[in-house]
Amino acid sequence: MRRKLAAGNWKMNGSVSALDMIGALKLKHPECPCDVLLCPPAPLLTHALQNSASNPIFIGAQDCHAKESGAFTGDHSAAMIAEIGATHVIVGHSERREAYGETDVQVAAKAQAAQAAGLTAIVCIGESLEQREAGDALDVITSQLARSVPDGSSGKTLVIAYEPIWAIGTGKIPTMEQIAEVHGLMRIELRARFGADADNIRLLYGGSVKPGNAAKIFALDNVDGALVGGASLKAEDFSPIIEALA
Ligand code: PGA
Repeated sequence: MRRKLAAGNWKMNGSVSALDMIGALKLKHPECPCDVLLCPPAPLLTHALQNSASNPIFIGAQDCHAKESGAFTGDHSAAMIAEIGATHVIVGHSERREAYGETDVQVAAKAQAAQAAGLTAIVCIGESLEQREAGDALDVITSQLARSVPDGSSGKTLVIAYEPIWAIGTGKIPTMEQIAEVHGLMRIELRARFGADADNIRLLYGGSVKPGNAAKIFALDNVDGALVGGASLKAEDFSPIIEALA
């Protein structure tokens, strides 16, 4: 059985004091039956890890460089993230694909670097509104999945987040049929590539997940949790989403 995962992507939000929510989540979910992960901005990672010591919340980063070290001002390597005790890294978020022109090939290289450093890579994929309206969503997902996920990935080292770009931060979500269709497709594609271990790879939905819609999304087959942006910034919003997974 795949353990459910509630992952919070803080993007460029938060502060040291905002990390107090880790303590609040710990109090509310002392024996959480799902995994909880928070990905704050890189400068907050060490504080987040201090706050999460001896509790079941995992801490991850929002990006990493594909190289181990070098003249890459402003970047950080997967090994650096792993060395401080973080366990996950998001790669290929659509905001990075759009703002920095990250390609599937670069995303796969980042995911591979993350896995080599002992991290779990959360690889994000998702179609634009134009692609959805043109009827191309499933082809886009199939292609991004094939090209952004490195060979040798496993249920331990890989999580996929399906995030339709038009659903991120907009309050709009796909229909339940559309989410189920994409997640079913991703499972089939992963099985064809990775065999039986594909059933251990967790598939998250992301894009405007809120306390009010989480339960119906999580009830769908092959939805193993969520990658949550805005609603992961406060314990009062994130906690009911965690509860909906329990
Ligand atoms: P949102 O963001 O939950 O604020 O829509 C999700 C994401 O970008 O991961």
